[in-house]
This record gives sequence, C-alpha cells and structure tokens, in this order.
Amino acid sequence: MNQPVTTAAMSVRPLWLNLIGGERRPAADGRTLDVLCPSDGLPFAAIARSGAPDVDVAVHTARAAFDGAWGRLTATERGRLLVKLGEAISARADELGELESRDTGKPLSQGRADALACARYFEFYGTAADKLHGETIPFLNGYTVAVVRDPHGVTGHIVPWNYPMQIFGRSVGASLACGNACVAKPAEDAGLTLIRIAELALDVGFPEGALNVVSGVGEEAGAALASHPGIDFISFTGSPEVGALVQAAAGRNHIGCTLELGGKSPQLVFADADLEAAAPVLVKAIVQNGGQTCSAGSRVLVERRAYDEVAGRVAELFAGVQAGPHDRDLDLGPMVNAGQKARVERFVGAARMAGVPVLAEGQVVPDAPAGGFYVKPTLFGPVPRANDLAVEEVFGPVLSLLPFEDEADAIRLANGTPYGLVAGVWTGDARRSMRVARAMRCGQVFVNGYGAGGGIELPFGGVKKSGHGREKGFEALYEFSASKTIVLNHG
Ligand code: NAD
Repeated sequence: MNQPVTTAAMSVRPLWLNLIGGERRPAADGRTLDVLCPSDGLPFAAIARSGAPDVDVAVHTARAAFDGAWGRLTATERGRLLVKLGEAISARADELGELESRDTGKPLSQGRADALACARYFEFYGTAADKLHGETIPFLNGYTVAVVRDPHGVTGHIVPWNYPMQIFGRSVGASLACGNACVAKPAEDAGLTLIRIAELALDVGFPEGALNVVSGVGEEAGAALASHPGIDFISFTGSPEVGALVQAAAGRNHIGCTLELGGKSPQLVFADADLEAAAPVLVKAIVQNGGQTCSAGSRVLVERRAYDEVAGRVAELFAGVQAGPHDRDLDLGPMVNAGQKARVERFVGAARMAGVPVLAEGQVVPDAPAGGFYVKPTLFGPVPRANDLAVEEVFGPVLSLLPFEDEADAIRLANGTPYGLVAGVWTGDARRSMRVARAMRCGQVFVNGYGAGGGIELPFGGVKKSGHGREKGFEALYEFSASKTIVLNHG
C-alpha cells in the first residue's frame, strides 16, 4: 500500500520505497532489490525494483505537477523552496553523509562533504532561479523582440552511484530552478540519499510531484525512463556505453539530453612547476572516492627531466595511502561493488603481466571485513603509451605516470585518448599555462591545482567520449530551459 510522507523519516530503515507524488510507493509488482554495504558486502537495506509501469506513473505525476501547483509558482517562489531544501540538507549533513557513506563505501568525511555540496547546489540554483533573464533583440522598425526562457516540462535524471547526492543536486537542482518537474532514477548500487532528499523537499513545502524518485535496475527502470515519450529532456551521468543508449532513446523521442560520461583526465607536470605543491594534489586526484570519479586525474604526464623527482615524490605519498571500511574514514573506502573491484583488478593484473613497473602500492587495512570490495591502490610508471592504463578509464585507485619530451609532445599525449573531460597543467610559466590550457580538448582545465572544492559554480562536462552538454554553474540553466522568441509587431 502507498504511504503518504508526513514526518521526517529515519535514515536507517529496511525498505526504501519510491517517492512519487508525495507518496511512498512500492514497485507495482512488489519486487525489491537488496542494497549492499561495500565495506562488508552485506545487505543493509532494500529498494523497490521498479519497472516501466512505475516509471509511467512517476512521469504522469510529474506532468500533473508541472501543469499544476509547481508550474504556477513564480521563479522567486521556486528559488525560495530550493534554498530551503539546501538548508534542510545542510542541517542533516551528518545523517545524509553517513547514509551515503554506508551506501557507497566512501569515507564518512567524504559522505558529509557530498551532502554539503548537494546542499550548496540547491542553494546556488535556488538563488539563480529568478536571474535567468531573457533578452531583447533589435529588429525591424515597429517590432519588439523578446527572447524568454521556458522550462522543458518533465525532465528525467539517471544518476550513477559514485556521487549520488552531488550529481542529483547538480542536475535536479538546475532543472527545478528552471521550473521543470523531475523524475530521478538512482543507481541500483547506491541512491538511498536521493529518496531521503526528495522527502525533505516535501517537508520544506515542494508541491507533490515536483520531484519524484523511482529506484530500480538500469535496464528496467532506467531504460523505461530514458525512452518514456512523456519526458521532455534527459540528464544522464554514467558510462559511455549506456550514454549512447540514452542518447538513442532521446533521439527517438526527439528530445535533448546532457551526457556526462567517463574520462581519462591528464595532469601535465612541467619541470618548472612547484613539484612539492603538486605531488599531494596528484595523489589526491586519483585516491579520492577510490578513483571512482569521472574527473579523476588518472594520468600524470611528466616532463622527462623532472620524471624521477615527480615519480619519487608521488610514490612516497602513494605508499602511505590507506583503504578501509567507510566508518574508519581513511583515504579511501572499498569499491562500490564486486564488479567494480573485479574491473580494477583486471586492469592491474593485465598491466603487471605486461611488465609495467609498479612504483608503489597503498595498503588495505588488515582488519577490513573479508566480504568488502577492497582493492590495493597502485601506482604504475613509466606506463607505455599504448598500454590500456594509458588510455582506458579504470575507475579505481590506479595512477599511471608517463614521461613526455616537450610541450608539443605533452599536448599530443594529453589529447590522445577518446575522452576529454578535465585536465590539469602544472607550470611556473604563465604564458605556457594559458597556451597549454587552450590546447586541451576537454571541458575544464585547472592550472596549478586540480578539482578545486567541488566547483559547484563552474560549468562541467566533456567532449568526445566524455559526453556533451554542461551541468554545474549558471550554464546548466541553459540546458534545462529553452529559448522562445516572441516577435511583437506594434508598428
Ligand atoms: P552505468 O552507465 O551502468 O550506470 C549509470 C546509471 O545508468 C545507473 O543509474 C544505471 O542504473 C543506469 N543504467 C544502466 N543501464 C541503463 C540502461 N540500459 N538505460 C538507462 N539507464 C541505465 O554506469 P556504471 O557501470 O554503474 O558506472 C561505471 C562507469 O560510469 C564508469 O566507468 C564511468 O565511466 C562512468 N561514470 C561517469 C560519471 C561522470 O560524471 N561522467 C559518473 C559516474 C560514472
């Protein structure tokens, strides 16, 4: 039976139902899926295993909200609700962070940081909601032309497991700010926090149906959402393979999409850089979230004459990296599931077999539960340019060092993978920093730093196999809205 959401819910509960139109609803056929904690591999909760009928109800419910109470709010009123939701998330950062951490395996402090980042997305987009101005265009005498921004209507959001709260916040926050009603499909591996946040949205006064969450397996609920004729836009974050399926489904329905896919992001270290400052950032960029970050700095490209020094500094830090259960709050937790662990081990095993030198290994704490999905962080170098580690996304704590000869060689090497998401440039030469940044084929470049505190305000997205469209920052509001040109003849 469907349960109306009336009071704040405890984050620890056995069964997390869908949240559709202000009600907790099981899957129409009653199926459920166990949710495992990656730290010990044991189930600690279950979610609804939704199918096409559940997605259909959610899409129609969102449409009714768009045509009704939600759609009638002014931009300022919508913005206020988003800010209130941000405040509610902030106030529960410990609860949400702990839940995210248990669900994904990430260290507690990262879970909490993700909750605060999610809150900040809602705050950012809440305060931006009534600043999405249109424009007027000078035209023929006797005419006034106004370009206004319209919401798409109902937007779908397919969210991965690596940063559920952050990715939900950035795409749903921007979409709601534009006035769309949303249907989100969390990853089957981790997405409990999304249900909790949708409950908080009701608590702070969102009209029912503005924000709906439908859990389930990608090929079932995800595919049903991507291909539903009732959605007007879809935001997808995940693998390039599934991104291609989502884009094909969007094409069949003639709607737009943003695709945030993987990466093989390079960090280019020139010999004139501050190597002492660079080394810990190079390590953190692959260790954070166990390397399960689309923008992980997974390739460090080093000018040959600085290679030994950089390799030495990075190896020393890398050897001190510790993996362990999420509640130990170490450098990294386990991988999210057994498949991801096996994937990382396959890459590491193949590189070892091919004779790629291992420069350093981190440790898994000896008392980590046997059933957890732990892998040893591994630093390889020098990695041959044709080796898989130099071009393929591992999505784990595996860092590759590659030497380069000069600036032109560095740029060729950096751009020489199918991906183009983020790059880092480390140099003391200001002219070179801009030359190289401009030459990178990707969506974001950091100079003498990497990652920069979540970058809620900074447009983010890829080129090539890393996807297209931009989320984060004000630019996302252009993705989740469309211009409409009104031509008034008053002559
Ligand atoms: P995935 O693409 O399989 O899953 C991502 C989301 O898509 C999940 O919610 C899943 O349920 C859903 N999904 C799966 N199959 C679907 C289908 N046929 N139709 C619609 N939805 C479907 O990703 P994964 O394998 O779980 O994650 C690993 C890969 O995702 C990584 O290797 C990385 O490349 C990529 N990734 C990228 C980002 C990013 O921000 N760019 C973030 C996370 C993961």
